[in-house]
Amino acid sequence: MNQTQDELTGLCNRHGFLSQLGRHVHNANDHGRPLALIVVDIDNFVQINSAGGYALGDDALRHLARQLQSVARDQDIVARLGDNRFALLLPQVRNRGHAELAIQKLFRLLQSPLQAGDARLTLPVTVGVALFPEHASQAEHLLGKAELALATARVEARHYLFAPDDPQAQTLSWMWDMEMALDGAIERGEMQMHYQPKIRSSDLRIIGAEALMRWRRPSHGEVSPDVFIPLAERSGRIKQLTLWALNTALRQAGEWNPDQQPFEIAVNLPGELTLQRDLPELLENALQLWGKDKLQLVLEITERSLMDRDHAMRVLSQIRNLGVQVSIDDFGTGYSCLAYFKNIPADELKIDQSFVQGLLTDTASADITTLIIDLAHRFGLKVAAEGVEVVETFDMLKRGGCDIVQGYLFGRPMPASSFGDLLDSYDPGAVPVMD
Ligand code: C2E
Ligand code: CA
Ligand code: CA
Repeated sequence: MNQTQDELTGLCNRHGFLSQLGRHVHNANDHGRPLALIVVDIDNFVQINSAGGYALGDDALRHLARQLQSVARDQDIVARLGDNRFALLLPQVRNRGHAELAIQKLFRLLQSPLQAGDARLTLPVTVGVALFPEHASQAEHLLGKAELALATARVEARHYLFAPDDPQAQTLSWMWDMEMALDGAIERGEMQMHYQPKIRSSDLRIIGAEALMRWRRPSHGEVSPDVFIPLAERSGRIKQLTLWALNTALRQAGEWNPDQQPFEIAVNLPGELTLQRDLPELLENALQLWGKDKLQLVLEITERSLMDRDHAMRVLSQIRNLGVQVSIDDFGTGYSCLAYFKNIPADELKIDQSFVQGLLTDTASADITTLIIDLAHRFGLKVAAEGVEVVETFDMLKRGGCDIVQGYLFGRPMPASSFGDLLDSYDPGAVPVMD
């Protein structure tokens, strides 16, 4: 008999069960699979013991152990957690209904009485259930939730109860749900690229567009990229999404007729992808497929993703050798120092929205912006500002020497066809600016 086994029933004991539960919760986390933990108590166990002696008590325990084993499938785990308490772990459930089926089956099996000598006894039990990740995301919490549900069921004289929903765990399950929904979103046609004009300050012409991803999730509406991009990054789905964005943007922009050529098409590249060795190759393939004569591909990379300087510098140089331009996005929010400017393999700095929107009210933002523009120019970089919403901001940026502006003042992100129409009808003279 080993230390993780219960002597009377031959089942796993509490100690052994906890380590298995821990392992299963870990796996469930990794593979995005839900699981159900069912905890079962024999009711009035003290009375059974005192009426029929310990022999009857032992028979009752063995009887319940057998019935639980009949309910369990190969991958399920049955354990004896304590005196009259058992557990059934279902590592492969699809939903609450699955756990409910297992419980109903147990109740049915327990309807046939236990024959112990002369005594016939129908074993009454109470059940508590907790689901991962809906109710808890850690093994001990999951067990705690199931045991609490059981205690509540007993107080309320119910045969079984699920754990109450936990708002924090619900957030987790909501994220999970979203991750699952992201799978195949491209194939189902739920993803779209929108385009926002990039305007040259000096003559107000549209010199390019930034491609921004949109996800229209059925029966949920539009999900913000601020929500689903980080989720895709965490769950290993970002590479596929980025390649799709890149190819879609090059294809759609190739259908427009801009008067500025080459026309800049800017695609956001998540920091993680700069770590991929095959990035230059992937870019080259996309450019070959969609042609690069009429278009100038720009990759927007956030300043923060360039923290690993040496590596990032190498990748940026490779990218630029392909004729692709690099724009440093959200500039000013990272940890740049003056030395940063000297060797940076980039073509453009994009001042973060937070400075741009503070320009009119906050002198520090205004100072930082002027400083960035001056420095960038000194090192041969273009400067773009995003989030330009009002004329006064544009005016200030233009005076400060900012080359390119982007923001709601000039146009919101829009579908490819609308952007094509905008290019056909656009009149720089009609833009409401000051001087
Ligand atoms: P970002 O790259 O800094 O993009 C600029 C964001 O500012 C966009 O939000 C844009 O719609 C918004 N914006 C533009 N002009 C204005 C303005 O005048 N005022 C205000 N308040 N906002 C303005 P969006 O489209 O919601 O994207 C949010 C972020 O999600 C992006 O920030 C980017 O980090 C990420 N993202 C979007 N599309 C993609 C993509 O295709 N790939 C990757 N990796 N990230 C993306
Ligand atoms: Ca961007
Ligand atoms: Ca930005």
